Amino acid sequence: MNKYDYLIVGAGLYGAVFAHEMTKRGKKCLVVDKRDHIAGNIYCDKCEGITVHRYGAHIFHTSNKRVWEWVNQFAEFNRYTNCPIANYRGKLYHLPFNMDTFYAMWGAVTPQQARAIVYEQVAHENITDPQNLEEKALSLVGRDIYETLIKGYTEKQWGTKATQLPAFIIQRLPLRFNYDNNYFDSKYQGIPIGGYTQMVSNMLQGIEVRLNCDYLAHRKYLDALADKVLYTGEIDRLFDYCYGALEYRSLNFKTEVLDQDNYQGVAVMNFTDIDVPYTRIIEHKHFDNEQSAKTVITREYPADWDVDKEPYYPINNSRNDQLYRKYYDLACQNPRLIVGGRLGSYKYFDMDKTIEEALALVSTL
Ligand code: UDP
Repeated sequence: MNKYDYLIVGAGLYGAVFAHEMTKRGKKCLVVDKRDHIAGNIYCDKCEGITVHRYGAHIFHTSNKRVWEWVNQFAEFNRYTNCPIANYRGKLYHLPFNMDTFYAMWGAVTPQQARAIVYEQVAHENITDPQNLEEKALSLVGRDIYETLIKGYTEKQWGTKATQLPAFIIQRLPLRFNYDNNYFDSKYQGIPIGGYTQMVSNMLQGIEVRLNCDYLAHRKYLDALADKVLYTGEIDRLFDYCYGALEYRSLNFKTEVLDQDNYQGVAVMNFTDIDVPYTRIIEHKHFDNEQSAKTVITREYPADWDVDKEPYYPINNSRNDQLYRKYYDLACQNPRLIVGGRLGSYKYFDMDKTIEEALALVSTL
């Protein structure tokens, strides 16, 4: 008999949800993580009394009532609503594209005026069969919005010209003909008071967690401890890249403490001009109205990925998706192994989807 029912590799959100639910069902779980902290990429810590999102800002939002109720067992959420501002060469626009944006761009005051301008610009492009991201965006929103708010940001983020990016990346770009600046359409939204690390810690209460523990470096020993293994890391790394590496985009974060109490007046400011090397500046205190004489800001620089860098965004093109399939089939050959989560699934999941997927996995088991 093994000591544990499940060895869970990765103490991020997916692993923590799974560990919590399985423990509740009487299973014995061991969670390991190679980092020196729990919570994966939603990890936050305190700096100058301010909660800092160390791996990029995370804003919880969902329309799934079950997920919302589930996550509220572990944290109380504040009423933060994401209203990012886009900065294009010093001029500011509200996101998502709405009447505030159209007013700043064209002075359009009524929805009729704004609609007429968008439709006229879209018609002018006359694109019926878009062949790439640029053509797709132009056919949806017209040239002004595309060039001011989409082109530079997207090209920085993906490190590729928009004419070289596949059209399928943007299926739709919602235009709102009202003054609603709430970025997300979700029914529920907020940031856990006390931070995500505390929330994940509450999920993992009473469960054995080993940090600084690199599963792949101690695989034989760790595998022998449990009946089954849930692996939430990069699937290609698990198999020593035997079919080649899956590709990602990475990010570099540059965080600064500033000797002033308010830097930009908003949590998220996007920089949509290609000449600014970062995509956004996060001012962390605004996520929970935290009071401090200082402020902490993080600039987010998109970066090429290699096997030594953090994989943030999977590049879901046909080459990578086919490669993933091969790795997944290989994983399925081992009845003791389960792969899941953002890295295990090679999919960009929002947090609510991550929870949904982990709860679904528990049900199937
Ligand atoms: N995007 C854009 N301009 C912006 C913000 C986003 O064109 O100011 C596009 C861009 O193509 C990006 C995608 O929307 O890749 C998703 O960006 P978002 O910031 O919503 O996603 P996140 O990186 O926060 O998951």
